[in-house]
Amino acid sequence: YTKKYKRNSYTIYTEEMDLNASYKLAIERDLKNAVLNNELELYYQPIMDLKTGKLTALEALIRWNHPEFGLIPPNDFIPIAEESRQIIGIGTWVLRAACRQSKKWQDSGIPPFKIAVNISTKQLQQAEFVDEVLTILEETNLESKWLELEVTESILMDDVGFIKESLLKLKEADISISIDDFGTGYTSLSYLRQYPFDKVKIDRSFIDDINNDLNGKRITSAIISLAHSLEMNVVGEGIEDEIQLEYLKKENCDEGQGYFFNRPLPAHSLPFNQR
Ligand code: C2E
Ligand code: MG
Ligand code: MG
Ligand code: MG
Repeated sequence: YTKKYKRNSYTIYTEEMDLNASYKLAIERDLKNAVLNNELELYYQPIMDLKTGKLTALEALIRWNHPEFGLIPPNDFIPIAEESRQIIGIGTWVLRAACRQSKKWQDSGIPPFKIAVNISTKQLQQAEFVDEVLTILEETNLESKWLELEVTESILMDDVGFIKESLLKLKEADISISIDDFGTGYTSLSYLRQYPFDKVKIDRSFIDDINNDLNGKRITSAIISLAHSLEMNVVGEGIEDEIQLEYLKKENCDEGQGYFFNRPLPAHSLPFNQR
């Protein structure tokens, strides 16, 4: 019985491996045409001010409507796009689409909010990146103060001097910079202070742990006080229930984002009538 069971699970395992391998190959192959074929789409997730309960920003989150596999989440293709450098073209598409949509919302007369766009380190390594962002803002007529770029801690372990300069230029142009998934990388506190970050987004794993153990609470509180002492705003990511929300409010976290408020939605499905 054990033998048979083992053999079966082994078979399943290899079949899964094959599937994964061919899925990955297909993604690599088809990604080249995803932009051309208009298969990419932005979903948007609200970021709320925890004191007033008002919407402060929408984060643009990419999805790929694949003809065969359906809706593919970013974690399945962004790493592949980064490896093959296709992220450069995709990243440009994301920025332009997000700024254009944001301008449309503003023109429709609803109270303005920021638009947050995720930026890959590979994009920031491009010498042209800053100019490209400024050109897109001009093209789409969106004022720079409404744009927020989200970068991850991996940029800090990279070509430090060059990227820091780019971030400073963006900041001078009145664009805000957030550090995403904070706490999962290796940022030393002194680095954090040297960069022009406006916001720190606490990684979802710590918010998750608020319900599980004392350490989740302690780490969350520590990040909030650290950010505040460096005069940065703090966002709690991945808020899924009231306990997490109440804890973040009690600890003076400025903003929050998560399924408890809204899941990411396509542009046309967003509920804008909340206060
Ligand atoms: P991220 O920037 O940290 O985005 C937040 C992720 O957490 C999103 O996943 C969002 O759907 C998910 N999330 C939000 N609230 C909750 C919650 O309450 N519970 C749970 N379990 N999850 C929640 P998504 O959309 O799958 O994106 C994953 C990652 O892919 C993003 O993480 C970001 O790093 C990357 N990504 C997304 N869009 C882009 C893009 O346009 N360009 C680049 N370079 N990366 C992107
Ligand atoms: Mg993000
Ligand atoms: Mg994040
Ligand atoms: Mg993430």
